[in-house]
Amino acid sequence: MRYVTFSLASDPRPRAGILLADHVLDIRASSLGSQEGLPPESLLDIIRSGPPLWNRLASLSKQIGASTPPPAATHRLGDVRLQAPIPRPLKNVFCLGLNYVSHMEETSRARGRESKIPEVPVFFSKPPTTIAAPEDPIRFDPAVTNEVDYEVELGVVIGIGGGDIAREHALRHVFRYTVTNDVSARDLQTRHLQWFKGKSLDGFCPMGPAIVTADEFGDPQDKRISLRVNGNTKQDANTASMIFPVAAIIDFLSRGMTLEPGDIISTGTPEGVGLGRVPPEYLKDGDLVEAEIEGIGVLRNRVEVLKR
Ligand code: MG
Repeated sequence: MRYVTFSLASDPRPRAGILLADHVLDIRASSLGSQEGLPPESLLDIIRSGPPLWNRLASLSKQIGASTPPPAATHRLGDVRLQAPIPRPLKNVFCLGLNYVSHMEETSRARGRESKIPEVPVFFSKPPTTIAAPEDPIRFDPAVTNEVDYEVELGVVIGIGGGDIAREHALRHVFRYTVTNDVSARDLQTRHLQWFKGKSLDGFCPMGPAIVTADEFGDPQDKRISLRVNGNTKQDANTASMIFPVAAIIDFLSRGMTLEPGDIISTGTPEGVGLGRVPPEYLKDGDLVEAEIEGIGVLRNRVEVLKR
């Protein structure tokens, strides 16, 4: 089952929807979620409502998906604007650095450092203001950065919170999966020593286009993950190559630190980023960046360099 957040040309407010082939079902307008109280306003509301609502929406969407024509409260996919699944997370996005061996090696080469596989995950975060919608521009000011890079990543959304989550139970805590692009200003990463600033410019975490429930997505460690710039493949790998798989990430991250429904984890990028190329290839005005994960879809954003 695929959830989306979308808006209409006539109303820019984000709405929670279910993707049905080439239509989007407006959950609130359809009153699908309203059998017990008010219908949910957002996907975050749905996630925080817990499994009873998720199960109800899943069975109702199956019934509707099998019916024709589409009921009222549906919109043609081409008529809506997709938003980031969670346009405004409650916390920073948790991120992993160096979670694929080949990316760690290319980064070490580019930075002139010794390459060493980390024994524990390397965590950092991106603030909620980094979230951008599918098809939003990746916009930056050349007075702030001139080394903007792409990183396709598997995004994991927590459904059931908890602390000290053991690896063997960890995937039960996942609500759904999406595609993230951990856009990175390499010059700021270097200048400020810590990665945080270079990872945190406005709109530097495009997310979407849809989010796929864990039951439909299947094994998160067996998915092709790729990225193209202007149609040329730059990254092409498999999530099987993660140093720390999703279950291990949740185990490490939740030790002594409570994860809550709606928390987002971006699980690291494979090789092929612009920093690792000789010479380095950074994003330019007008570039089209397409990040794709098998079973989820393509997250498409065009680069827009601010003119002064
Ligand atoms: Mg990254």
